Amino acid sequence: MKKYNFNAGPCVLPKEAIESTINAIRDFDGTGIGLLEISHRTKGWERIMAETRQLWRDLLNIPEEYEVLFLGGGASTQFFAVPANILNKKAAYLQTGVWAKKAMKEAKNFGEVELVASSEDKNYTYIPKDYTIPADADYFHITTNNTIYGTEIKYDMDCPVKLVADMSSDIMSRPVDVKKYAIIYGGAQKNVGPAGVTFVIIRKDILGKITDRQYMNPIPTMVDYRTHAAEEERNISMFNTPPVSSIFVMHETLAWLKNLGGLEAMNKINTKKAETLYNEIDRNKLFVGTAEKEDRSIMNVCFVMKDEYKELEKEFLDYATECGMVGIKGHRSVGGFRASLYNACPQEAVDALVKCMQDFEAKH
Ligand SMILES: *Cc1c(COP(=O)(O)O)cnc(C)c1O
Repeated sequence: MKKYNFNAGPCVLPKEAIESTINAIRDFDGTGIGLLEISHRTKGWERIMAETRQLWRDLLNIPEEYEVLFLGGGASTQFFAVPANILNKKAAYLQTGVWAKKAMKEAKNFGEVELVASSEDKNYTYIPKDYTIPADADYFHITTNNTIYGTEIKYDMDCPVKLVADMSSDIMSRPVDVKKYAIIYGGAQKNVGPAGVTFVIIRKDILGKITDRQYMNPIPTMVDYRTHAAEEERNISMFNTPPVSSIFVMHETLAWLKNLGGLEAMNKINTKKAETLYNEIDRNKLFVGTAEKEDRSIMNVCFVMKDEYKELEKEFLDYATECGMVGIKGHRSVGGFRASLYNACPQEAVDALVKCMQDFEAKH
């Protein structure tokens, strides 16, 4: 039976990207050697690195004064790499979920951390709106899409200090005004590739300004963004061995995205998918969405059974699984269901899920 992949991450990827990667694993670039075995110091691989970086620049319109780095360690490593590089005295954090909380915890090792606002009081079902960003903070950290709770900051905010964003789960889902950010980072495995590679987009002029701090100063070589940025400047972007196979899949995924028409086109498709599912949640007598309507994510759609139908939750999960739905069980801290509608998730999958919800409603 046909399977529809709604996993929250690692995510569904374009079939084209999987196919071309399989071919490259057998024979990379006509070399007779497979992708998993090539040296990363070859012309063929340097070309893929340069093209991947160019795809990022083209798709997101990244200005010259920014570098694009591909690192290991996941978004979780950036939770401490960001403060290690730019927290001199004080940082400000917006707490919109456990990822944001984890990021904040790491920053506390480097300096004073101000919690600007939190939505923990209502299990992160909304994005706080009324808050003041302290003008004396080195930076303000936000999580644009809260993967677990299905809330999203869908615009690029004005910020009086350097704006740092964890965009792990909504990067490349919509156009972004990169100029408004000092750093954008995330793990690739939610929307742009498989696990194993982390992207960091960084404005170069903010680096090398740690003067007042003792801890991790000097910054360890691998953690220091300047190490990797300097390599990019020399147009190789490889201080050490990069996650070659993950970057290759990302390259193929972004080429697919560019071919599709880029981020304006992708955003239209994503918005339609999200609308389809939210409309059904709001219409169906059995279900209710968990996030505040105005803060609903277009990437992760969270919903539960209404109180009077709570006992049907397991039955629906079993039914949906029978219908081919994969990965719709909600995160344990929210319960219910979560359908992740990342870029490569087709409208057809959303339509199938909606039909499954309607058929289930008809049975009850
Ligand atoms: C998944 C996720 C992370 C953690 O990413 P890793 O690459 O597994 O470290 C961080 N932030 C957000 C918003 C996420 O969705």
